[in-house]
Amino acid sequence: MNIAVLVKLVPDTEASLKIGEDHKSISTADLNFVLNPFDEYAVEEALVQKAKHGGTVTIISLGGDEAVKALRTSLAMGADSAVHLKITGGLDMLGVAKSLAAFLKDKNYDLIFAGKQAMDDDCAATGAMVATILDIPHVSTVTKLEVEGNKLTAEREFETGVEVFEAPLPALITAQKGLNEPRYASLKGIMMAKRKKIETIEVEPITAKTEVIQLTYPPIRPPGKIVGKGAEAVPELVRLLKEEAKVL
Ligand SMILES: Cc1cc2nc3c(=O)[nH]c(=O)nc-3n(C[C@H](O)[C@H](O)[C@H](O)COP(=O)(O)OP(=O)(O)OC[C@H]3O[C@@H](n4cnc5c(N)ncnc54)[C@H](O)[C@@H]3O)c2cc1C
Repeated sequence: MNIAVLVKLVPDTEASLKIGEDHKSISTADLNFVLNPFDEYAVEEALVQKAKHGGTVTIISLGGDEAVKALRTSLAMGADSAVHLKITGGLDMLGVAKSLAAFLKDKNYDLIFAGKQAMDDDCAATGAMVATILDIPHVSTVTKLEVEGNKLTAEREFETGVEVFEAPLPALITAQKGLNEPRYASLKGIMMAKRKKIETIEVEPITAKTEVIQLTYPPIRPPGKIVGKGAEAVPELVRLLKEEAKVL
């Protein structure tokens, strides 16, 4: 099975983000960048499916030079090869999806994985957009996947149940937490990843159809209030929730 995984490098989720001086971007100074956590599930599932059905796993990341770190991490987990779609400037959502789809178009991948969302820009759009441009089926936020022959069965959990989808291959799946338990890269994997060649392809800029106007911090939350301890505090707590917070 010919499998592709789309991955993105994002600021460490523990990091406290600061808005840059242009008020349109995040300041990247002093930030540690990691493979997007949802992409770890995507890479793991690609490796699981390869173990079951054979084939190869190719990792693809679009971005500046820093994107190579996401590729190396994925290679260290066990992927076979990696492609860096190198851009110098920024791309908007459609530009990212179009550039990824342009690369994927002629490669005959049976399965394409992406994370359900990138933890920095949080668009949760790329997987669906890429599948739409490629005109292939797409199941988002998948928590269980079975592939048999030319067909997949995917499960998606929602608040009160599970949706089950079937789709023919080729198809694109976006990975949700719970799909699997991503493996840690072994020392051997890390050493081998250093020796694996990463193909670099320069990507032409695409004129953005959207523009970031301004980034602002969320309003500062008022400090919490301790109304008392134990059962005696409950009447006052209920009164405050009703009269002040107006949530009851
Ligand atoms: C006008 C404009 C300018 C922008 N300029 C910049 C910029 O200069 N630099 C910048 O970093 N961002 C820029 N962005 C943000 C960029 O558009 C988003 O990163 C992009 O739309 C993807 O959204 P997301 O990162 O929220 O990914 P999501 O849609 O949330 O990601 C879902 C999944 O898609 C895959 N994926 C997402 N991005 C990539 C990628 N690059 N390569 C491979 N797989 C991927 C991953 O599997 C990921 O888990 C800009 C946005 C706008 C609107």
